[in-house]
Amino acid sequence: MKIIRKVSDIIKFREQELKNLSIGFVPTMGALHTGHISLVEKSVRENNYTIVSIFVNPKQFNDKNDFINYPVTIEKDLEMLEKSKCNLVFIPDSEDIYNNYTGFRMDFDGLDKLYEGEFRPGHFQGVVDIVYRLFEIVKPHNSYFGEKDFQQLAIIKLMVSKSNLTLNIIPCATVREESGLAMSSRNERLSAEERKNASKIFEVLNSVKNSMKIDDSPEKLINKISEEINLNPFLKTEYVAFCDPTTLKPVFSFSQNSVVRLCVAVWCGKIRLIDNISLEF
Ligand code: AMP
Repeated sequence: MKIIRKVSDIIKFREQELKNLSIGFVPTMGALHTGHISLVEKSVRENNYTIVSIFVNPKQFNDKNDFINYPVTIEKDLEMLEKSKCNLVFIPDSEDIYNNYTGFRMDFDGLDKLYEGEFRPGHFQGVVDIVYRLFEIVKPHNSYFGEKDFQQLAIIKLMVSKSNLTLNIIPCATVREESGLAMSSRNERLSAEERKNASKIFEVLNSVKNSMKIDDSPEKLINKISEEINLNPFLKTEYVAFCDPTTLKPVFSFSQNSVVRLCVAVWCGKIRLIDNISLEF
């Protein structure tokens, strides 16, 4: 497995050595877990050559403390990537990657103001800036994103449709811990007790999926879901939303043969967790 740190080196390597290969790309912020690796393995299966980037992007953190405390486990990450048959890891530094690059401007069609965007101002502009830059450098044919970050996935698809980029964005299912809790690098910062209680989030989402009916009111369900999650003393919901899986616009009633995404953000102690599931009618 090759490791490249400099932007100029990867551009040269991509041009000279990878010209005729199909390239799969997985952007990450490191602190890798089985969820990330599932994306890498999918890329390895579907492409001739897989590139993973590890870069904790300061621009997408609206909360300074979250950035400072973001876990860094580079040695373990490299071991996991080697095992997953990743071909190249790109580990740039901030100064190099943002050198002569001010970002990618686009109209988000209001998507950056909803849900995550409402509570994390500037977050999605930071995400779009770094992902566009990485796409420009790596020039992948396929890039893999987790449904765990459902709004991010929708925004990256929108970005590609509004740019001159021609790659495919491939969604990948959320990988969960045995308890049902969606895997996340931030789970490492939960205490054992918090981690156990955080599994209540998926438990509630799943029970709604199994018990809801088409004529239920989304508004009333939102209140019910919040109440149930907040009954757990470790948890506090920030938002609960039913939305269209493509436009992400809020859904005010359910209809036959439709698909709706149920998305939540929940504080567990000092850690903010997100999760979502698909509902089919
Ligand atoms: P991050 O390092 O958090 O920026 O995540 C890198 C990529 O891994 C993103 O596309 C995430 O959506 C994806 N990812 C993170 N956690 C999971 C998970 N539990 N299951 C599937 N994909 C995930």
